[in-house]
Amino acid sequence: MALSVLILGSAAAAPTLNRNQTAQLVSTEKNLFLVDCGEATQIQLRRYKVRFQQIDHIFISHLHGDHFFGLVGLLSTMHMLGRKAAVHIYGPKELQEVIQVQFKYAGSSLSFQQVYHTVEGSSAPIYQDNEIEVTAFEVNHRIKCFGYKFQERPKPRRINGKRVEFYKVPNYFRPKLKEGADFTKEDGEVIANSVLTDAPFPSHAYAYCADSAAHEKYLKHIQGVDLLYHEATFMHDQKARAKKTYHSTAKQTGELAAKAGVGQLLIGHFSNRYTDLKPLLNEAKNGFKTTSLAVEGKTYTTDISKR
Ligand SMILES: [Zn+2]
Ligand SMILES: [Zn+2]
Repeated sequence: MALSVLILGSAAAAPTLNRNQTAQLVSTEKNLFLVDCGEATQIQLRRYKVRFQQIDHIFISHLHGDHFFGLVGLLSTMHMLGRKAAVHIYGPKELQEVIQVQFKYAGSSLSFQQVYHTVEGSSAPIYQDNEIEVTAFEVNHRIKCFGYKFQERPKPRRINGKRVEFYKVPNYFRPKLKEGADFTKEDGEVIANSVLTDAPFPSHAYAYCADSAAHEKYLKHIQGVDLLYHEATFMHDQKARAKKTYHSTAKQTGELAAKAGVGQLLIGHFSNRYTDLKPLLNEAKNGFKTTSLAVEGKTYTTDISKR
């Protein structure tokens, strides 16, 4: 199963008429996950025809406003539309207070439950179901900021029909083959699982890193993912500014993606000083060839064949 990522916002700091603040929709077969929720994300969801009442899980990276100022508005609209299903919100521990104080002083009581999950950045999954698990890890920003990794669960081995027939493996045993069991024939001969099955299809992974000054300390969390989103706020001639504000240059991001051996890199969180983004793309591509710009309204996938 491929994971797909719809870009809802690609701007750093203030929104402009051309670029919205950071937000993305990560889709699996069963779920829509919202990742960050900058100002006017609900407008973007409408623009790109996302049925946002189907979003049950929202992941917030950090408490800079360009990543969560849209959350209270989105939750309010969900309420006004009569939502009943709970919304699970993952993020730094202060997020709950920041959001709920606004509803408190508005005298609002939402029609659905908000369930807050404090993210610590440990290796244990913060969310899992039978198709995917999500882990959080700390990146390298001025305030505590988390990246999120969406990893498809390991898939079963694939039964090789011809060989299974040849060795007369009964139907009832086939589920065990998928789990890796060897098969023992009636005469006692053991047929190794690797003879009867083929390797599983690979599990897809997507990692999201915003905002962050590119750093090896979170390399292990993004190593080998099929698709990596990483901020590239500035060109490298602004590296002093990037360092001071704990952001990345496109060059640094490209180099980090190469070290992490990812399949594809997606860059975003562009400073408003850039109207033409091609130079940022070219700079990142010098470090890592398979790089794309995060373009609002476009969907990117972990499936290599669809690149
Ligand atoms: Zn930001
Ligand atoms: Zn930030």
